[in-house]
Amino acid sequence: MLNNKTLSYYIETWGCQMNEEDSEKLSGMLKNIGCIRTEVKEQADIIIFNTCAVRENAELKVFGNLGALKKLKEERPDLIIALCGCMMQQKDMSETIIKKYPFVDIIFGTHNSYKFPEYLNRVRQEGKSVIEIFDKEEGIVEGIPVDRKSDIKAFVTIMYGCNNFCTYCVVPYVRGRERSRKPVEIIREIKSLVALGYKEITLLGQNVNSYGKGLEEDVDFAKLLRMVNEIEGLERIRFMTSHPKDLSLDVIYAIRDCEKICNQIHLPVQSGSSAILKKMNRSYDREQYLELVRTIKREIPDVALTTDIIVGFPGETEEDFEDTLNLVKEVEYDSAFTFIYSRRKYTPADKMEEQIDDKVKHDRFNRLIEVVNEISAKINKSYQDKVVKVLVEGKSKNDETKLMGRTTTGKLVNFVGPEDSIGNVIDVKITKALTFSLNGEAI
Ligand code: SAH
Ligand code: SF4
Repeated sequence: MLNNKTLSYYIETWGCQMNEEDSEKLSGMLKNIGCIRTEVKEQADIIIFNTCAVRENAELKVFGNLGALKKLKEERPDLIIALCGCMMQQKDMSETIIKKYPFVDIIFGTHNSYKFPEYLNRVRQEGKSVIEIFDKEEGIVEGIPVDRKSDIKAFVTIMYGCNNFCTYCVVPYVRGRERSRKPVEIIREIKSLVALGYKEITLLGQNVNSYGKGLEEDVDFAKLLRMVNEIEGLERIRFMTSHPKDLSLDVIYAIRDCEKICNQIHLPVQSGSSAILKKMNRSYDREQYLELVRTIKREIPDVALTTDIIVGFPGETEEDFEDTLNLVKEVEYDSAFTFIYSRRKYTPADKMEEQIDDKVKHDRFNRLIEVVNEISAKINKSYQDKVVKVLVEGKSKNDETKLMGRTTTGKLVNFVGPEDSIGNVIDVKITKALTFSLNGEAI
């Protein structure tokens, strides 16, 4: 409760799991001061947009949504509008927003979101807008309450920031340098989640494989995985993202040996062409990546590999693109996030010559998706009639009479089964394989 009035809030989140987790913290802090969450934007006293800057599209969506709030603010001047997230960390962005959307009340960045309740109080007491963005990261702030979306699976951030500076990417500029949380804090958080009944955790970081650098403790990602695997009552461990240049044999062995670690690795390749990978500053070439994939498949034969791919990076020739298509066919990814290269101000790739024509980009994008989907469908078909272990997450999104959950390989399964299985790992027989999901029956 703030000033004796219970305020409701609405949060809209764009972008990656990091942003999702940040939003869960914003929600946790607001609940802690007595506010209540609403899913109806028009009814909220506080509207928060947690923004993403990775591609232009995500930014355009934020601008579109902001424009639509103007009328609401005119009708209800008490409405508080707050903007945060990666977009706000970009140079000149807050000035642009204040000029174009002067009705915004609070703007803060990725490094100071823990101060949101304080900003809220200031706006309510002083009636003036608050804009505060820290240029640089500070130490890690622990102990922020988290209001999680699910009560079965949870994200646990193990490291913040990124040092890799891939030439297309804004993340290192908006999330600061790499810093790892102390292992005791991570273990404490996971244990308390397990005590609350959580069954699956996803360890989050832009590059989890470089976890531990700069810590006093002698711990790396492989060791952390083994420590988390020891936690009693926890059923499943996932993690993302793995940068291929830092995925060590020790991590591969940990995944192979630890029974709770899911058989899935998200291993963004970005391009199948060594020339493009070099221009992207990815620090591996096509052969090294394929060798890594061979090692993974040898050690963990039933592993599911997923990836991120960008098409239309500056200078990408038809040949380079075909290298990507061939690599996708060779690796046989279970699924892939595919992106059209988006020019980002202040990144080196934005200044490169030979930017690719939009039509060519779209054409390559469509060709890539076709290949990716064909492989996904083929792999999904191999599940037909098999019995798989599914962690049941809840009711199916499209059909309330069914349940949904995931296999250890990350496949979405919609199935007929008993409601009291929610939160448990159960056996499901696959009755139908679709391109993006599986149908089944609990047995
Ligand atoms: N840290 C993660 C990814 C973070 S961004 C990693 O390194 O794998 C998520 C994905 O967005 C990236 O893997 C990349 O495929 C895509 N991406 C990043 N910048 C982009 C840009 N400028 N245009 C298109 N896609 C981009
Ligand atoms: Fe961006 Fe590369 Fe860092 Fe991933 S590793 S966040 S793509 S700079």
